[in-house]
Amino acid sequence: MMIVSPKASPETRLDDNNSQATTDAKPFFQKSLDASPYPHLFTPLDLGFTTLKNRVVMGSMHTGLEDRFYNYGKLAAYFAERAKGGVAMMITGGISPNREGWLLPAGGTMNSKLDVINHQRVTRAVHKFDSKIIMQILHSGRYGYHPFVVSASAIKSPISPFKPRKMSIKNIEQTIDDFARAAKLAKQAGYDGVEIMGSEGYLLNQFLSRHVNKRDDEFGGDIFGRMKLAVEVVKAVRAAVGVDFIILFRLSMIDLVKDGNTMDEVIATAKALEAAGVTILNTGIGWHEARVPTIVTSVPRAAFTDFTAAVKNAVNIPVMAANRINMPETAEQILIEGQADLIQMARPFLADPNWVNKAQQGEAHRINTCIACNQACLDHTFENKRSTCLVNPQACYETELVYKPTKRPKKVAVVGGGVAGMSAAHVAALRGHDVTLFEARDSLGGQFNYAKVIPGKEEFFETIRYFINELASLNVDIQLNTTVDKAMLNDSGFDHVIVATGVVPRSLKDTLEGAELPQVMSYAELLSGQKAVGGTVAVIGAGGIGFDVSEYLTTRHAKPLNEIGAKQLNDPSYRPQAQSVASWREEWGVTCDPDYQSAGGLVTPDAITPARQVYLIQRSKGRLGRGLNKTSGWVHRAHIKSHGVIQVSGVHYEKITNEGLWITNAQGQSQLLRVDSIVVCAGQESVADLMPNVGDAPSAQYHLIGGAKLAAELDAKRAIRDGAEVAAGI
Ligand code: FAD
Ligand code: NAP
Ligand code: SF4
Repeated sequence: MMIVSPKASPETRLDDNNSQATTDAKPFFQKSLDASPYPHLFTPLDLGFTTLKNRVVMGSMHTGLEDRFYNYGKLAAYFAERAKGGVAMMITGGISPNREGWLLPAGGTMNSKLDVINHQRVTRAVHKFDSKIIMQILHSGRYGYHPFVVSASAIKSPISPFKPRKMSIKNIEQTIDDFARAAKLAKQAGYDGVEIMGSEGYLLNQFLSRHVNKRDDEFGGDIFGRMKLAVEVVKAVRAAVGVDFIILFRLSMIDLVKDGNTMDEVIATAKALEAAGVTILNTGIGWHEARVPTIVTSVPRAAFTDFTAAVKNAVNIPVMAANRINMPETAEQILIEGQADLIQMARPFLADPNWVNKAQQGEAHRINTCIACNQACLDHTFENKRSTCLVNPQACYETELVYKPTKRPKKVAVVGGGVAGMSAAHVAALRGHDVTLFEARDSLGGQFNYAKVIPGKEEFFETIRYFINELASLNVDIQLNTTVDKAMLNDSGFDHVIVATGVVPRSLKDTLEGAELPQVMSYAELLSGQKAVGGTVAVIGAGGIGFDVSEYLTTRHAKPLNEIGAKQLNDPSYRPQAQSVASWREEWGVTCDPDYQSAGGLVTPDAITPARQVYLIQRSKGRLGRGLNKTSGWVHRAHIKSHGVIQVSGVHYEKITNEGLWITNAQGQSQLLRVDSIVVCAGQESVADLMPNVGDAPSAQYHLIGGAKLAAELDAKRAIRDGAEVAAGI
């Protein structure tokens, strides 16, 4: 299979005067070509009645703050911070037009005068910074998590326990009115426009696709019947808000579900939406129930932009690209290639509210990059918790976690340059303290250095790069190759010592016979390249690291740290080669043809030949990977399945010999797994021996953070937040 190059050409341009797409030889972005490192990204877009100051849009994210009126002050601060950061336009989390459309019971609404007053706090805060704000109207349809759910047909979704009621014609007409009323109120609240959510498998997408729409009335049948609800909603909204108001429509460019639409049907819908009054078409990729990942970190950057380009070439309104775009080079390239007119990023603005200003000032190396882990944003949404960000704990806590400049600068020692220590050093220095960071190894990053060599986790490089550049710009004194002991800290003159000495892999040498044999190694020895494995491998421990190591061992292009090369490791701009878009699509069964005729863009995935035979083993009974994160765990489980990893649970480890690993299996029988090598991923232990003992009277104040504080259930989210919180308080 090969990627067919998109139809878009660099000459396709938006005319500055009339916002109509035209194709001529004049350069699209001539005005600012010399002024910025990303000239296309920073060319304004004239919509006729209003202008977007650049091509960057913050996409809709449900933060959890929009559901309660008493959180609207925090929501306003969250949006204001990003408006200040230079983004041209932002889209709120989904607001339902009515009760049936709630995602969760009592979700955010725009139904009344009181709602208008609450939302005004947001729009006023944003408009102080020359940015635009759009309210997304989202009707969840059968994705709603409550008993009032409705849909095109009475077919339950695999991701909600509630079976929907089939909407009657009267119900449909009322829903169209509800969309229009919500839009009108949004205009009164000061919004610059609305986005009508028509993708990701929500109500309008449910009507658009045969996957759910089995109706035989005027709202079903062929694509023209199935698109009728979406088109009528747009017409009603346009009639309610007038001509000088932005209407975005988020259209599913590829459904990635059985019986999903073909590209011809997507284009027919796009043209009808344009005629109905849409100002800008936004990209949606895949339904939430699709079994193809669309935003997790292992999805290559800009993996879907050729589908957006196919639609852009068919319409005369601006089209916005989305999904796994997180750095300016990628965004600029999409614009250069004429694949889209605007770039939408959502999570990258949780990670760094100043993304746009940094890009404009040529400081992309200082962007705190979204690593697409979902751990603190989408996973929180599914746990009904407020969203925040693993790499930026201030996100959605702008009024609560504040890094105030200090009035009394102190001498601060941070011991340990893992993510906890780097985060603490960063915040302490940002506040004006005099910071020294000690690291035993020759590079910063700690355990994150192992994470970043896992195939599909290449983005983790960016976090280390970000911290290295920030610490340098804040003149933190970084002492590499320095193992700190207690004597060095005594009488060293530090006012504060932050102990961030992290964790070491748990060794089984004292508890499992044969664990000292040379073919047995920790994950750190494997991933650093200190030890090599043979063709068959047993992985002891099926937590997050056991899964990652199994993926590393079965993937053909995986490389350990020592093969990446010291030069590149110390170069903060270095990024490893991630999997290509074409190879990723072949693996997951996504068409490589932007004009796809297969339903939902699905094709048969290629068979995979794993690099090794791997057994992934745990003592607990039941399915492996139950503790993995909600929104990414299924991707890891699917990966090891497609790479032939043999999953073994409910075992007791007996011993290791030169023949392999002896276990008592779940049936109580002794069994030999004939393997060449054994990798131990059995959790970690804290390293905290620098903390004063009871009775000591140190001159400095000591703080314990990250893995050093607690190894159990440690992840980078806790480590980075710990560091930031401690440093914010000294
Ligand atoms: P560490 O990373 O252990 O850092 C401690 C640092 O202190 C080390 O650099 C060490 O050399 C230094 N040090 C120790 N003693 C001294 C001393 N006396 N003097 C000077 N320096 C010293 N987490 C996630 O949230 N999501 C993931 O997807 C994820 N994937 C992972 C994948 C792998 C393969 C691995 C191994 C880990 C992964 N993690 C992930 C876990 C995450 O990397 C850790 O939770 C996090 O890095 C812990 O950070 P820390 O700073 O507390 O400790
Ligand atoms: P973990 O999730 O606690 O898993 C440790 C595994 O080792 C468990 O499967 C456990 O299962 C087994 N184990 C524990 N003690 C053992 C012993 N004495 N002998 C044999 N087996 C033992 O920890 P981890 O995999 O080391 O990961 C560390 C942290 O990094 C995690 O908490 C996670 O949050 C983070 N991480 C996250 C991701 C991600 O994708 N989000 C990826 C990697 C790591 P049994 O007891 O059933 O055998
Ligand atoms: Fe991105 Fe992870 Fe932060 Fe979410 S938590 S915004 S995915 S870095």
